[in-house]
Amino acid sequence: MLGLAKRIKAKILQASTSEVYGDPKIHPQNEEYWGNVNPVGRRSCYDEGKRCAETLFMDYYFQNKVKIKIARIFNTYGPRMHPNDGRVVSNFIVQAIQNKDITIYGDGSQTRSFQYIDDLLEGLIRLMNTGDDFTGPVNIGNPNEFKIIELAEKVVKMTNSKSKIVFKSLPSDDPTQRKPNISLANKMLNGWEPKIQLDEGLDKTIHYFKSIIK
Ligand code: UDP
Repeated sequence: MLGLAKRIKAKILQASTSEVYGDPKIHPQNEEYWGNVNPVGRRSCYDEGKRCAETLFMDYYFQNKVKIKIARIFNTYGPRMHPNDGRVVSNFIVQAIQNKDITIYGDGSQTRSFQYIDDLLEGLIRLMNTGDDFTGPVNIGNPNEFKIIELAEKVVKMTNSKSKIVFKSLPSDDPTQRKPNISLANKMLNGWEPKIQLDEGLDKTIHYFKSIIK
């Protein structure tokens, strides 16, 4: 794709990820942080794959001046997620609507900062409209941080579910905390900041899943 972008002089976006920070030792994470990634763990193919993609994008920029943009996308959710997507927001909502057990991996004390899809899209559009000298990487996420157990309790309450919360084993190398520093996005993307906070976004997403799940 980078070769094609070079040939036809296209602008190209790398949808990178907060996973490049691994299990971060600094909090919140800013773009200067190089991350804390296990190169040989169960999550490594994703983390290192995305890190390598960022490297290749930068090399095409350094060597060939390809018009690249790198967005580090933090946990994003919203309507039209697949019910079997497997990520936490869709899992919890689908389980709650069906009154099935809510599966927390670990003790639920790990944190994530959840971004509603519309905020991400606005950020990406603004990023694509920046000048060619701005490559990123730039964090695009919502800094409002929640424990996974808080998310579970919120979803149960908002769906009036009879679901029980159960605890399963924690996958290896599951990051303990994650929260974006979005100062760079705010500065470079015309004052961009997330507009939809978790309660409102969950409400829209619950509404969607109720409409597709009998
Ligand atoms: N998680 C959970 N139950 C689930 C799915 C995920 O407790 O049914 C946890 C998972 O272990 C992680 C967090 O929720 O700590 C976010 O997981 P997700 O896969 O959504 O995103 P990522 O780990 O890539 O940030």
